Amino acid sequence: MRSIRVGIAGLMALAVVGIGHESSNLPTPSTEMGRAYATHVGAAHSTGKPSVGLVDKKGKIVVNSKTYAIYWGKPKEFPADVQPGVTALLTGLNRSSYLATIDEYMRGKQATTQYVRSFVDVSRPPATDPTPQVILAEVRKVLRQAAVKPDANAVYLVFSSNLPKVDYCAWHAAGDVLGVQTQVAYVPNTSGTSTCYRAANFPNVSPYSFGTRSIADNAAHELLEAMTDPIPGTSWVDSNFEEIGDKCDFVYSSAVALNGQRNVWQLQSQWSNRAKACVQVGVVSQIALPAKPHRQSGSKHTS
Ligand SMILES: [Zn+2]
Repeated sequence: MRSIRVGIAGLMALAVVGIGHESSNLPTPSTEMGRAYATHVGAAHSTGKPSVGLVDKKGKIVVNSKTYAIYWGKPKEFPADVQPGVTALLTGLNRSSYLATIDEYMRGKQATTQYVRSFVDVSRPPATDPTPQVILAEVRKVLRQAAVKPDANAVYLVFSSNLPKVDYCAWHAAGDVLGVQTQVAYVPNTSGTSTCYRAANFPNVSPYSFGTRSIADNAAHELLEAMTDPIPGTSWVDSNFEEIGDKCDFVYSSAVALNGQRNVWQLQSQWSNRAKACVQVGVVSQIALPAKPHRQSGSKHTS
């Protein structure tokens, strides 16, 4: 299984246009769904849709993810607080009730995510919509330079200092990095646009800049999808090939508490089959108490 699921594109534009309609000319499962622009903030995507929930297509899932942040571009072109913000997000997600929103899709296990480290590459990021191959090549480059081994359970989040002219907010994909099939996400710098994030004015929300909060919301969306449907379209997707985050894009019902942090975050809801709704707190852990203790590092998962 080496086929890369490529072709980000603005397919979600199709889905956005198609909201509330039974659409038969759907994107193919082999195509990666980008996080589309927020042209439809408000009610959950599920409203009026024929598809009820996510279906397990039995492909790879990533129960115990390791996250790596790669900052591509000149530091001064990013929001000044992006690195501490993203680090806090990726660290605090582990053992959070928000991460537990994906437990019901983990085939009996409990999801964990461990933030490993960051890399900085000050070279110029792509000026136009990068393909998954371009992002995979960037991951290969930084790992090779730092002599870090690739990890099949990793999600390499590539943050670019720029926002090329694209019609999405972020995407994730899978592919080969130095001989290992793994996960990548592309999260461009959305600090200059309000189409990828809308501040909901929750009290005590994270003290980071608008741009960093936007980037964090996009990163959370892609990370949870990269764990539940790492090779897009082969694991948990609905009949429209929407993933867990796509069904609840830009739906914020309350602020999200992360592990060990005083402030809260504005992170979008995720689709729960059990609740038949967009949720921000895991449903399995609420129902199935007492839960097994979280495992810090787990079994290896190969697809
Ligand atoms: Zn998505």
